[in-house]
Amino acid sequence: MPLARWLGLCALALMLLLRCSLSLASTQQDVSRIDRVEIDHVVSVRTEADVIGALEDARIEGKQVVIAGAGHSQGGHILYPNAVMLDMRGYDRVLNIDTEHKTITVQAGATWAQVQEAINPQRLAVAVMQSSNIFSVGGSISANIHGRHTQQGPIISTVRSMRIALANGQIVTASRDIHPELFSAAIGGFGTLGVILDATLQLVDDQMLIKTVTPVDFEGYAAHLRTNASALSLHYGRCSIAPGERFLEECFAIDYRPAGAQNLPQPLQQEAHVARDRLLFNWSRGSNIGKTLRWELQKGLLDKPGSTALISRNNAMRPPIRFLDYSSETDTDILQEYFVPLDEFPAFMRALKNVVQENEVNLLSVTLRYVHANTENLLPYATQNQVAVVLYINMDLNESALTHAEQWTRMLVDRALEHSGTYYLVYQRFPTIPQFQRAYPSAQALIDCKLNYDPGGVFNNLFYQHYLGRLTND
Ligand SMILES: Cc1cc2nc3c(=O)[nH]c(=O)nc-3n(C[C@H](O)[C@H](O)[C@H](O)COP(=O)(O)OP(=O)(O)OC[C@H]3O[C@@H](n4cnc5c(N)ncnc54)[C@H](O)[C@@H]3O)c2cc1C
Repeated sequence: MPLARWLGLCALALMLLLRCSLSLASTQQDVSRIDRVEIDHVVSVRTEADVIGALEDARIEGKQVVIAGAGHSQGGHILYPNAVMLDMRGYDRVLNIDTEHKTITVQAGATWAQVQEAINPQRLAVAVMQSSNIFSVGGSISANIHGRHTQQGPIISTVRSMRIALANGQIVTASRDIHPELFSAAIGGFGTLGVILDATLQLVDDQMLIKTVTPVDFEGYAAHLRTNASALSLHYGRCSIAPGERFLEECFAIDYRPAGAQNLPQPLQQEAHVARDRLLFNWSRGSNIGKTLRWELQKGLLDKPGSTALISRNNAMRPPIRFLDYSSETDTDILQEYFVPLDEFPAFMRALKNVVQENEVNLLSVTLRYVHANTENLLPYATQNQVAVVLYINMDLNESALTHAEQWTRMLVDRALEHSGTYYLVYQRFPTIPQFQRAYPSAQALIDCKLNYDPGGVFNNLFYQHYLGRLTND
């Protein structure tokens, strides 16, 4: 073949490969690095046509599809062996900001950081997102996330509508009025109903807030929320991880109240001192002195009891996070979260302390949130107003450490269930199937909806297969 023709064919093949935004078989993992899975290929989504084309190819080839946003879920939610992975991160445009009705329409791969950049100049702020801004809008909706907000429940309370690409390639709108059953199933449905293409979300006004820090014990924390939650814009709590008498018992309520000042918009703050904070955090992974030092610094500088500070809502909703990035062959950081009603919070915390101490769990932080009840979706965790207890843990990656983690996690899930609570589904697949069924009694409704919208089971992932797929097959 003449050289020019050969080069022409090569260029054409390259163009096709780039147009399809397709990369070949690879090993994929989520941020916890507990599961490693061989994926058939990854499609880097840039356009709606990429999604529809990938779904059509998957149907023809009999492949299953997993959907990945920023990849911060930790229980195989974006992984399935030999599946086609839709990487949504490049599908990230802000489509519309309606300043009159205070809404944003945004493609699902955009992160909250991108949303904040777009709306800060309009003096608008996200109504509900996680504590930090690194997550994708689609991944957040699919996990029905919540954050430091005290007035709204999980993110579903702020979703006006979504456009979803179904397994058969049809694109439908889902809202409280149109396909309401799909709306309730896809939010918190972990990518198993269809691909969320874009969503229209309710925003709120950006505001200047006054931050205050109050020392509390377990009973004091529940009482503090009962009295103050309705007046707060944002809130979180923090409990000591320093070993010794104060372990878990010394806590702080960190509140943000409207300050009324009008000097907005404020420039968005960027994370500083990442290397320093990473070093300090790393020290606390491996030593009690490191844990004590971190707690004392946090108390003395970051969340100093009695201190006050003025900050915009947008800046309060982008706290440091990059210092947590961690990579090691032998160990990993994981998150877990338990929800309990206010009345049960003190007893749950005492039970948590026992399990953590008896099992020598390497606890790196314990933070608290207040979650307003919302039962609109089919796997609701906020069935009543409750406290969310968030654990950040370091653990080894070997078989015996994983078995041990499974054991103490199941103890914690039992304690949460005994205290009329539940646990968060975005983390490891450690809880048992009966525990899942007890915590999420309406799971069958999600399975029924999934079978209706995706009868061929095109969308799948390790989490779904482990808990809901098994129930489907029973
Ligand atoms: C350090 C850290 C802090 C966290 N803090 C909080 C917190 O404050 N509050 C909280 O509620 N959670 C928190 N989480 C959990 C986090 O919110 C969830 O894991 C969330 O799903 C992450 O978003 P993501 O973009 O990384 O999603 P991914 O992990 O990429 O995906 C999560 C799920 O969404 C699906 N999905 C992704 N995109 C789409 C789409 N376009 N259409 C359909 N399905 C899709 C995936 O298939 C998967 O099932 C935290 C996690 C970490 C690691």
